[in-house]
Amino acid sequence: MQPSGRMHLGNLIGALDNWKKLQDQYESFFFIADWHALTSMSTDTSMIRENTRDMLIDWLSAGLDPEKSIIFIQSRMPEHAELHLLLSMITPVSWLERVPTYKEKQQEVKDRDLSNYGFLGYPVLQSADILIYKSDFVPVGIDQLPHLELTREIARRFNHLYGDVFIEPEALLTEVPKLPGTDGRKMSKSYENAIYLSDAPDVIEQKFKTMVTDPARVKRTDAGNPEVCPVFVFHRVYTPEIERNGIDSDCRTASIGCIDCKRILFRNIMGALEPVFVKRKELLSHPGSIDEIIDSGVLKARDVASRTMFEVREAMKI
Ligand code: SF4
Repeated sequence: MQPSGRMHLGNLIGALDNWKKLQDQYESFFFIADWHALTSMSTDTSMIRENTRDMLIDWLSAGLDPEKSIIFIQSRMPEHAELHLLLSMITPVSWLERVPTYKEKQQEVKDRDLSNYGFLGYPVLQSADILIYKSDFVPVGIDQLPHLELTREIARRFNHLYGDVFIEPEALLTEVPKLPGTDGRKMSKSYENAIYLSDAPDVIEQKFKTMVTDPARVKRTDAGNPEVCPVFVFHRVYTPEIERNGIDSDCRTASIGCIDCKRILFRNIMGALEPVFVKRKELLSHPGSIDEIIDSGVLKARDVASRTMFEVREAMKI
């Protein structure tokens, strides 16, 4: 994940909770892709370190466990850069130009300059990140599938040219609910509608108080429709089924008002976030432990990555 800074509830439900489960099933590698962030923010790097640290604190607070997973920062691993360079020698430019996100992002993003060599080569660096650990699976969203397909093609080409070194990784697609932000649009930092894991409880409560509801429910006596209400999306995630079914029918008959409905939601979310708050407090009271976790993750990742690079150099006879 790129170091975008503080994580919000959408990230928790959309990625971190899933990763937490994966670390119990697989030997997992999770890293903060700070070099990838440079492809679009190379002219202003002032926030990268701070964002990296904030994100790491959120990952650990959310339950990523350095005892179970290997957690590290990309820029601490020069092996990724070496493999990126070698793979770039066997990757036709046309393969990169046809990656859908390449053209889409260039058209969409107007406030940053994406006409650099690094941005075109981004998927090769991503391939190196994956292949260096001989990953069997990569947890990705559907939008990332073309990148993973490119990784598989690069692995195939390398193996064909120099002998079998790499595994062709498969996608691990998981259906996750998408949480809306306080304004009803997708929760996103850039929309300023996000509820952050690091927000204090009173800030979270205030954000829910101002969250939009069913727009057709104007008066307390109007019946509402949970199907179109952003608040109810959160109930689906955080409220136990029996209580949720009660809210659903009470909303439709105007037996419950939005203020009370949000109060129940807030209580349930606080219950779910309690372990996250406890862990965050613990981490912040021992800031040195965060550096130790990164150092130890880098060592473990290097153990695997350096072995792969030895094989790569042998296979390429360099
Ligand atoms: Fe939404 Fe709850 Fe209000 Fe119904 S009662 S409209 S679900 S906030």
